[in-house]
Amino acid sequence: MCAAEAAPSPEDKALAQQLLASAPSGKKRNRPGRAPLPQNLERKERTIHVPAQDCVCSHCGEAKKLLGYETSERLAIKPV
Ligand SMILES: [Zn+2]
Repeated sequence: MCAAEAAPSPEDKALAQQLLASAPSGKKRNRPGRAPLPQNLERKERTIHVPAQDCVCSHCGEAKKLLGYETSERLAIKPV
């Protein structure tokens, strides 16, 4: 069973937040030169799952452990 295949549990999300928070401030995920999107914009969360073949070690075939998440935001326009 591959952990990355399952929907993220609240515990996983909390762990991911912890990992992000404990990362050195110089290693932020945001690309330089891009201001974060305003907090008042509506967010729609979309999880992109890891392909099944990437969930196992290519050397020994063992299931890989979930280390964390990467997040990104994209601005979208809703048609009226
Ligand atoms: Zn291995």
